[in-house]
Amino acid sequence: MNTLGQTIQQKSKEYEQETVRVLSELIRAQSFSGKEKEVVGVIGNEMKKAGFDNVRIDGLGSIIGTVGNGPRVIAFDAHIDTVYAGDRTQWKSDPFTPKVEDGKIWGRGTVDQKGGMAAMITAGRMIKELGLNKEFTVHFTGTVMEEDCDGLCWNHLIEEENIRPELVVITEPTNLNIYRGHRGRMEIRVDVKGVSCHGSAPERGDNAIYKMARIALEIEKLNDRLISDPFLGKGTVTVTEATSSSPSLCAVADGAGIHLDRRLTLGETKESALAEVADAARRAGYPDARVHLLEYQETAYTGKEYGMEKYYPTWVLQENSPYLEHAVKAYGEVMGKKPLVDKWTFSTNGVTIAGKHKIPCLGLGPGNEVYAHAPNEACPVEHLSAASAFYAGLVARMNGKL
Ligand SMILES: [Zn+2]
Repeated sequence: MNTLGQTIQQKSKEYEQETVRVLSELIRAQSFSGKEKEVVGVIGNEMKKAGFDNVRIDGLGSIIGTVGNGPRVIAFDAHIDTVYAGDRTQWKSDPFTPKVEDGKIWGRGTVDQKGGMAAMITAGRMIKELGLNKEFTVHFTGTVMEEDCDGLCWNHLIEEENIRPELVVITEPTNLNIYRGHRGRMEIRVDVKGVSCHGSAPERGDNAIYKMARIALEIEKLNDRLISDPFLGKGTVTVTEATSSSPSLCAVADGAGIHLDRRLTLGETKESALAEVADAARRAGYPDARVHLLEYQETAYTGKEYGMEKYYPTWVLQENSPYLEHAVKAYGEVMGKKPLVDKWTFSTNGVTIAGKHKIPCLGLGPGNEVYAHAPNEACPVEHLSAASAFYAGLVARMNGKL
């Protein structure tokens, strides 16, 4: 006699080739940020074929496939945009012509993160066929524009579409581990003004580049002072770009600016991070430097303009969360072993779901994150069936069936 966990695992194996086929279709439908229309069409068709109860597209262009109509709501999320292929000569085969070899499927997006999307579609099919759900409305979201602005799509789903699940499972790559958080981030700009004059007599002016150079060195020192968290690690700050202006190359610079990449650990906020940068400018001797948070604003493929500030808050699901307990238990039942519980190095849609809107998140996804954004991106085929088994198992567990 099989336990339900074994049945789920077996079923996901039976559907493994089907999951590979769906993933192949998703890879062929190239979908760079803001250009996801074609892949959304492919996903919609596959969701309908898999027997989803409802499929719709939101104002920003994200696709929402739903199984069940119970009073409680959970969601599984995959962003469906990818980065570009980069230098094609570094790829051993065409990034948009998927191939299966050595137990892996190769192509742009296999790991980050169309593999998660394909596994989600199979999970939805299994939840229906095995009758694993009763209490929940289960949304499977294929979300847009994540690579450009993580969390923007979910800000839209929550604030404009009123979707508020009690739990969101992020299916970004975790190498089949369970992740429960990551550092946040923000993009900050610092500007100072100078006074230009003829380059032949610099003493008449006030060179903005020298001012900014001193501020940049204070930013380097600030990085060493930033706090650390035992789970997430240390907050960091670094200069990623420097710009300047002057009336000519034979004139003292009248303006200079730097762009900062700030990674935020637990306990650091937008306010604290901006205050630290303003303090660094003061330490350099320039309290009048302008420090500000940057904004993202872009047009979706639907034509909708939408944006948010480039503040992506840190989030962590508590170790004693009942949702984490469900996830660990479901993992054990369908995989036959204990999971490693860890964190992502990069940032995900969790920044707005959990960081801003305080909706609990956890994650499990096929593939290893080291292949994300890299040439020859490839995901082990067995990860795909394991992920769909976990998603179906988690729904069964939350319905008290596992
Ligand atoms: Zn991703």
